[in-house]
Parts: sequence; C-alpha cells; structure tokens
Amino acid sequence: MRAGSRSRPAAAAELAAILCASTRAVALTGAGISVPSGIPDFRTPGTGLWANVDPMEVAHIGAFRSDPDRFWGFYGERFASLVDKRPNRAHEVLAELERRGLLRGVVTQNVDRLHRRAGSVNVVEVHGSIDWSVCPECGGRVALEQVIEMTRRHAGAPECAACVAPLKPDVVLFGELLPEAAMAEAYSLASEADLMLCVGSSLAVHPVASLPAVTLESGGRVVIVTEGPTPYDRDAIVKLDGDVAVELDALLAALDEPLSES
Ligand code: ZN
Repeated sequence: MRAGSRSRPAAAAELAAILCASTRAVALTGAGISVPSGIPDFRTPGTGLWANVDPMEVAHIGAFRSDPDRFWGFYGERFASLVDKRPNRAHEVLAELERRGLLRGVVTQNVDRLHRRAGSVNVVEVHGSIDWSVCPECGGRVALEQVIEMTRRHAGAPECAACVAPLKPDVVLFGELLPEAAMAEAYSLASEADLMLCVGSSLAVHPVASLPAVTLESGGRVVIVTEGPTPYDRDAIVKLDGDVAVELDALLAALDEPLSES
C-alpha cells in the first residue's frame, strides 16, 4: 500500500496497527533521521561541511594514515559541528516506542549519538560513534569533549598522552571494515525481527543495506519511512515519503488514539 493515496493519519494508523501486531520490531536508521537536527547528509551534494570536499577522500582511512594532521583539520571540524546537535522528534519517537516495549532496539548508520541522547537504550551503531577516539598503539580511549578541547588548543591530530600517537575517531572511515560485534548484533536483530522499521535511509550503502533482506528472508515485514526511493520500496508493506519527524510524530499520535477513524 502506498501512502500517496491516503491521508497521513490513515497511513499512520495503519503503521500503528502493524507495529502493535508485531512482537520483535527493530528500527534501522540512516542519515535522513538526523537531517531535521541540522546534520546534512553528505551524500546530498553541496551541503554543509561536505560542500567543497570529497568525503570518500577526506574521511578515508588512507587519509588518516598518510597525514593525520590534515585528516583532523577536516574531521575535527566535523566533530565540533556535531557536538551540540540535539535529537529531533523522530529520534524521540523511536526512544518512546522502545520504552513502550514496541521496539527492541535501533540499528543505526549514524555516528552522531542522537539516538542515545533521545533516550534509546538498545542502540547498535554499525558505523561507530563520535563519543570516543582511540589510540591505534595502546587502544586507549579519549572522550569526545576532551578530543575537541585538544583540537582547539593546537592544530593537527590530537595525540594519545601515553604514546604520542595520533588518535583515530572511533567511527568507521571509508576503506575500513565494519565493527564485527556491532554487525553481528545487527544481523541477529534483523533475522529475529518480525518487523523492520527503516527510517531516513536510502538503504543503498552495503552491508547495512542488506539488513532489510535479512528480515524479509526470515519471514519478517519491512516498513519504510524515508523521502525518496529505496531498493526495498516494492517489498515494503508500507512506504511513507514525508519528513521523518512529521511521519513518526503522526505514528505516535495514532498509537495514542487507537480508535480514531480518519
Ligand atoms: Zn596510546
């Protein structure tokens, strides 16, 4: 069924009914859920920090290894731009669904930690998080606020106090493998899910893009709340095309008024 043919309350009521009927629902989120928080999706050309650079080049593990100072010249700015961002209504609704026992957890490609700040507890960050930076030599971890302070005090890469080695942000850079433990947890949640609620992701970046297929192959259903097309649009039982914060807010409203007929 397509949302375009119905009103938003009707589509939200349908989604609410599907969610209530499921027992092992999981959310999968991408950059689109953080756009209303003022964090541009760098795959959208000409936006924010990424306007004049090729992310594949500057946020590549090779760039970090060959010139960590230059890498941090760019990435430090990205860190600083993310630190004061706030969760939006879409993050809040997913946290509320988990509190109500309607969602087992959130698998996210985002590194901005906004799901946890919104109150989600079971969050699987398959691309890591900006929370920590790690010393490649000793494995020591330094918290975000401290890293930002270090980059403010002097230009170039922040260094491990013990090894004087440049710290690497604990996020998955281009050219790096995804963290095994997080991916295993994501696949396990996806294969056990009877409903996968995909929010703000074009579902185009592998291997996370394969997670809805894992749910479908295990007999679960897929719902998509994302502006623009995805490779799973035909497999989804519901596809909502509107702003993620507006759509999820309508979903919560529908859950609170189960008897309303729109
Ligand atoms: Zn170290």
